Amino acid sequence: MTSLAPLWFQGQVQTAFHRKGGPLLLVRGEGSRVWDDRGRSYLDARSGLWAVTVGYGRADVVGAVFESLRRLAFAPLTDAASPAALDLAARLTKILPGDLSTVMLVPTGSEAVDTAFKIARLYQTASGHRRRRIVISREYSAHGSTFAGASLSDPDRGLLRGMGTRVSGIRFVPAPYRYRCRFCANGPVCTRECVDAVEQAILAIGADRVAAVIAEPVPGPGGVLVPPDDYWPSLRTVCDRYGALLVADEVVTGFGRTGRWFACDHWGVVPDLMVLGKGMTGGYQTLGAVAMRRHVASRLERRLIPHGFTFSGHPAACAAALTCLEIIPAEGLLARAAIGGARLLDGLRRALEPCPIVGEVRGLGLMVAIELVEDRTTRAPLRLRARDLDRLELDLRTREVLAFVDNPIMLAPPFVVTDPEIDALVGSVAAAVEALSAHTPAAGPARGRGPS
Ligand code: PMP
Repeated sequence: MTSLAPLWFQGQVQTAFHRKGGPLLLVRGEGSRVWDDRGRSYLDARSGLWAVTVGYGRADVVGAVFESLRRLAFAPLTDAASPAALDLAARLTKILPGDLSTVMLVPTGSEAVDTAFKIARLYQTASGHRRRRIVISREYSAHGSTFAGASLSDPDRGLLRGMGTRVSGIRFVPAPYRYRCRFCANGPVCTRECVDAVEQAILAIGADRVAAVIAEPVPGPGGVLVPPDDYWPSLRTVCDRYGALLVADEVVTGFGRTGRWFACDHWGVVPDLMVLGKGMTGGYQTLGAVAMRRHVASRLERRLIPHGFTFSGHPAACAAALTCLEIIPAEGLLARAAIGGARLLDGLRRALEPCPIVGEVRGLGLMVAIELVEDRTTRAPLRLRARDLDRLELDLRTREVLAFVDNPIMLAPPFVVTDPEIDALVGSVAAAVEALSAHTPAAGPARGRGPS
């Protein structure tokens, strides 16, 4: 008989906790650091779960949330709204690219993905294209844990394992993953065949059957896959050519993580729908959104959309988001994410150059991945057993770092991380990876291409 804990932890973490003898109890935070119940502190290079942007322990955000709750605990977003919800929508349309000028607020990123999925199909129906039902997603994607979100996520993530069914009408295409690209990983240049693959998939399905293409501008949980600069403009062109909506899932990348308000801004691309969540409230409250371009919103404007969540656009969440939208420009945090991210990337590349198990270090803004390999020439992924991962995680904790421990290892500290904290993070992570290298049967001395 196993004894069941009264608190059920999430996902695969459940078993990991049992293995490690219990969770890390986090009780307090300040800036980029968090403290556990035993008084030990860590640099939070996970930003919670990619969510904490303006830092922990902020009296301004907490004050806004407190004041909002004190005035009014709840305002439904059905036939009413809070001033904060209205202000937030207006403020968002000022920073969102192009004519993404209508915002539907929801409680979480997964629910935003579900909402975008429904809107895409409804838009096509309302436009007279009833056959357009298929949504194209990509390998390595992570779009959430609701049924639609999990169904849109790469099946290899196993989010629906043992659940018998998935939302139908979803197809997968390759994502740009230069280091492991099935088309061009071994060639000197990227051949853009991953974009051609989207077009070929649309043609194979039948152009009149595709409702939308959904993609993360830089997949985070999938391994910080930074696309070539012309990938997103090309995706935009392909979607336009065949009348498919382009849905950008910016749940991880939105609100400054890559050094711009939105990752799409790097390439000047305006998606038809943008999905938002996580960093929107700096991690202080739960909130998500779907932003729609004018042509989408106007098509659906007078229709009854049978969809909504009780906690959509909660006033306290909107107050937190509004405060973060003031803090980010006032404290220059977009530039900070860009410059701090570059420092982190350069530091790691330099520190890990000699390490034989490091194949590539890549990133954009404050999201960075360290790809571990058995051999730099063959790029065979380093297979880490559960106990190797546990050891790496505990080693990083000993060095006062919380990171996403997997292969690749991923780092995403809050935007307020300081230069000395970044340098310390580089030192700690490099030391932990070196220690891992000494324990794993990797390829001996460094060979082939170094980290890039
Ligand atoms: N989209 C992306 C790109 C994500 O990474 C996630 C969560 N990992 C989601 C959507 C779902 O967000 P949430 O967990 O807040 O529902």
